[in-house]
Amino acid sequence: MVHEIGHNIGFGHTNSPNTWYLQKIVGTPDTDSNSVMNGGTALNSWDGFSIYDEKATLWLYDNIAIKYPKEGDELVSGSGDWSTSWTPHYFCQEDYVNIKVYFDQFGSGNEVLRINENVKNDGSWYYPSGKFGGGNNDNDGNFRLRISSIDNPNNFFEVNFNMFVD
Ligand SMILES: [Zn+2]
Repeated sequence: MVHEIGHNIGFGHTNSPNTWYLQKIVGTPDTDSNSVMNGGTALNSWDGFSIYDEKATLWLYDNIAIKYPKEGDELVSGSGDWSTSWTPHYFCQEDYVNIKVYFDQFGSGNEVLRINENVKNDGSWYYPSGKFGGGNNDNDGNFRLRISSIDNPNNFFEVNFNMFVD
C-alpha cells in the first residue's frame, strides 16, 4: 500500500534507476535495498521507510534541509555578499558541516569549486563580498550549493541557483 501511494506522489522504482522517465534525486544512492519503492515489494510487510526514502520525499515536497537559497532561485546581490541557511542537525548530526559552492560562470557546464569550507552546523553561514568578489560581474552565473556531512560526504543536500552580481 505504501509502495503504491509512493507511485501516486511521483516515485518510480528505486531498483530501476535507468528508466527513461525517472530522475535520480541528488543525495540518494543508485540502489537502496531498504527502499519501499523497489519494484516487486508492494506486498511486503511494513518495515519502515529507508533513510533515503525519507530524504527523497523531503527533497520533492519539503526541502527544509537547505532553507535558502531554494532550487532555481534567481538572486541579485549588490555586493557579492551571499548567505545560506539550513536546518541544523536535520540530516547531519555532526557539529560541523561542509559547504561547497560550485560556480559555472557562463552556464557552459564548466563548473569550478569556488567555496569549500567546514562551518559550524548551526544553520546559517554568511559569505562576505571580500572573499567572493563583487561588482565586476565575475560572479554572475549558475551556482550549485552542496551542504554535506564531513564524516560521510555522500550524505548531502544540494540546490542549484542563479546569482547576478549587480
Ligand atoms: Zn511499483
